[in-house]
Amino acid sequence: MNATGGAMLRQVSEQLPAMRLLEDAADTEAYRFDETEYMRPGQPIGVCFPTTTDEVQSIVRLAAQHRVPLVPRGAGTGLSGGAVAVEGGLTVVFTAMNRILEIDPANLTATVQPGVINADLGRAVAGHGLFYAPDPASFEMCTIGGNLAENSGGLRCVKYGVTRDFVLGLEVVLADGSVIRTGGKNVKDVAGYDLGGLFVGSEGTLGIITEATLRLLPAPAERLTMLAFFGTVRAAGDAVAGITAAGIVPTTLELMDAFTIAAVDEWHQLGLDRTAAAMLMIESDAPAALADLELAAAEQACLSAGATSIVRAADPREADWLRQARRSAHGALERAGVARMDDVGVPRSRIPEMLEHIESVSTSHGLRIGVFGHAGDGNLHPTYIVERDDPTAEGRIDAARSEIYARALDLGGTVTGEHGTGLAKRRWLELQRGAGAVRVMRAIKQALDPDGILNPGKVL
Ligand SMILES: Cc1cc2nc3c(=O)[nH]c(=O)nc-3n(C[C@H](O)[C@H](O)[C@H](O)COP(=O)(O)OP(=O)(O)OC[C@H]3O[C@@H](n4cnc5c(N)ncnc54)[C@H](O)[C@@H]3O)c2cc1C
Repeated sequence: MNATGGAMLRQVSEQLPAMRLLEDAADTEAYRFDETEYMRPGQPIGVCFPTTTDEVQSIVRLAAQHRVPLVPRGAGTGLSGGAVAVEGGLTVVFTAMNRILEIDPANLTATVQPGVINADLGRAVAGHGLFYAPDPASFEMCTIGGNLAENSGGLRCVKYGVTRDFVLGLEVVLADGSVIRTGGKNVKDVAGYDLGGLFVGSEGTLGIITEATLRLLPAPAERLTMLAFFGTVRAAGDAVAGITAAGIVPTTLELMDAFTIAAVDEWHQLGLDRTAAAMLMIESDAPAALADLELAAAEQACLSAGATSIVRAADPREADWLRQARRSAHGALERAGVARMDDVGVPRSRIPEMLEHIESVSTSHGLRIGVFGHAGDGNLHPTYIVERDDPTAEGRIDAARSEIYARALDLGGTVTGEHGTGLAKRRWLELQRGAGAVRVMRAIKQALDPDGILNPGKVL
């Protein structure tokens, strides 16, 4: 560690003696990576665990004084390298800043610290008959701070929208240690620029989120769940496009290809149709009779697209198993080898073409690619499966993903639907957004963080 880092850590311990601070390399090792184990992290000078906004302010002021980079970190489940340690930086972990400060049924809001786990918030508001909709598949692990910084999506976002749609106000510590609030409990509030919108999805590069006021909804009805199986991925893609075109907005519209179906079924023994080329999971949480009608209409769209079989979950318990199985798709694929989950999005009508392209890339590069994802949002997760220690793996994955991103962009899509730019997608940002837009992003970064101490090297 250089002298500056050492001096900063000494001051951190002096000013915040009660805060947990790890300095030993053996202790900080677990915080160097996120879920992108292929990224090469730097060696941090330490890892700290603030519990209050005041503590975060002190840390940021010292970092600004010593020009030490800060890496905000939630649970480290990110899939684009946003929380990966920066050389000579201090990683600031929010898991101990995890209080639900208020649930306000009269205003349908919850105010939370950033380290609250997404599913814990869901359970807490359910106790009041309320509902927090954004539910990344990692919801039992990931934090609200990480969700805000990535603008995360999830399985229910096709109906309810993504994290951004549920943010009313943020408290943010800026790069000079000052604190701003971007909103509060107002449902409508258009005073000045939308600063909250700027911090949501900024991946810890513009400010550190220390509190959030989130929008809640009345709890919806119990979900009805249906599975539809198809003989080709194209047919499943056609069904997604057909459901969307018919004006049906299910709560969940998730896709798994044959490879993922087999991996999930092998793990959970659910009796899924392993002969199918693709499966859709479709759910409705509309009030009773309407849910039935919604699923019947979705069933019709699936049959028109060539579904080979359709089954409904017998009861809520079975539906829950199926949902858990979908959430475990990445874990199931990891049992088949090293699984690197990717993330692309296309307009929903272009899903069939995107699926066919991924299939052809898999064949031409001799690379196993399992595909699953939030098809109802046009958001797919091609997941590359390689053998550990295969020296050709990196090159083949790189070639395959370049082709997949290029096709997604040709189709009017995006190189990341929900996992963020982080380190993993930086090379493609300008290709998608254009030089002018990236120039504006750099100007914003420069204005808010002129010394570049907030998560440097990420996004831009
Ligand atoms: C199995 C699996 C399934 C997943 N499914 C989904 C899914 O369905 N949808 C989806 O969108 N993502 C999904 N993800 C990705 C990941 O879970 C999300 O991006 C999640 O929001 C990250 O939360 P985290 O707490 O782990 O954040 P981290 O990974 O720790 O950090 C993510 C980013 O947030 C920044 N950050 C964290 N806290 C703060 C803060 N307080 N202030 C400012 N910046 C901060 C970090 O610097 C980093 O850039 C999945 C990941 C896995 C492993």
